[in-house]
Amino acid sequence: MKIKNISLEKREIALQTPFITALRRVETIEFVRVFVECEEGSIGIGEAPATFAITGEDIDTIVHSIENIQTLLINLSLNDALLLLHKQNIGSSAKASLDMAIMMLLGANRLKSTEPIKTDITISFNAKERMLRDAKKAISEGMDILKIKLASDINHAVEVTKFLSKELPKAKLLIDANQAWSLEESLHYVQSVKNIPLELIEQPVKAEDLDSLKIITKASLIPILADEAVFTLLDVKKVMESKSADMINIKLMKCGGVSRAIEILEYAREHHIKCMLGSMLEGPYSINAALYLAFNYRDVIEYIDLDSPLLYKEKSLELDFTFEQNRINFLPSPETL
Ligand SMILES: [Mg+2]
Repeated sequence: MKIKNISLEKREIALQTPFITALRRVETIEFVRVFVECEEGSIGIGEAPATFAITGEDIDTIVHSIENIQTLLINLSLNDALLLLHKQNIGSSAKASLDMAIMMLLGANRLKSTEPIKTDITISFNAKERMLRDAKKAISEGMDILKIKLASDINHAVEVTKFLSKELPKAKLLIDANQAWSLEESLHYVQSVKNIPLELIEQPVKAEDLDSLKIITKASLIPILADEAVFTLLDVKKVMESKSADMINIKLMKCGGVSRAIEILEYAREHHIKCMLGSMLEGPYSINAALYLAFNYRDVIEYIDLDSPLLYKEKSLELDFTFEQNRINFLPSPETL
C-alpha cells in the first residue's frame, strides 16, 4: 500500500466545564485531524490536539509541521513512511497524528480482547469544596478512580488531599501536580500524606528536574509517576534506570504516536514497569487509537487516564468505544470487526 494523499482539517470540541490544571485552563479542545489516503482508497485518520504548555505545539505549529513533511510521504509504502516520519524534526503531537493514521492503515485498530477496561476521571483544580462537589458528582455517576489535579499552593494541596480522602474513603485517588511543586514542597507533601492510601503522585516537580524526582521517589511511600518527564522511550529508559520514578505515564502526543507507544509498552512489559496510559484533552480518533492500545496492553497498563470523551459537551459518534460509568466497552462496527 502506497500513500496517495494527505489532507488535514482543524476541529474543535466544546467541554462541559472548563478543565483546570496547574499548567492550563481549557474550555474547548482544539485539534488537527489528518487523513492519510492510500492508492486503493483506504483512509487512516489521526489527530493531534494543541497542548502548547506540554509539547510546545499550538494548532498552527501542528498544521505547519504536517504540511511541511506531507509531500515527503506521498508514494511511500506505509512502513517506509513511518520510518521517514520519525526521522523528521517536528513536534511529537504532529508526528503522533500522522503515525496513528498510518498505524490505523497497518491494522493497529484491532483488539486481542474485548473485555471492558476502567478509566479514571479528572477532577479539575479548584477550591476544596468545589473539588469535593465535583468528585461526589463523578462518584454518583459510577466513577471510582479519581485523578485529582493540584497546583502550586502546597498547603491547599495537602488540605485537599486530606479532605477528599476523608470524605471519599472508597474512591481511589491519583494525585497529579503537573510539575507545580519545588523539591521542598514535594517532600513536605509526601511526608504530610504518607498515611493516606493514595494510589500514586504524578509529576510533582519540573519535567527536567530528574534529580529532585529521584529524591522524592526515594522519600515517598506512595508510588511516584513520571509524566511530563517522559516523552520518548529514551526518556523512559533514563528515568527508570536512574530510579527517578516508580511508574510512567505514556501518552501518544508525547511519544510520537502508536508505533512509539508500542515500543515503550514492550519495554515496560519486558522490565515489569507499571504504566499509566494517558492522553491530553483529545478528539475521538486519537482516543480510539489510545484505547486500542489500552485494551491490547492491559497486562502492562495499570491505570487508564482516557477520560476526554466524558468531558465533551456532546457525545461523540466517532468513538469505537462506549463509556458507561467507569467502564469502557468496545463498540464493534463493520470496519473494526
Ligand atoms: Mg499528568
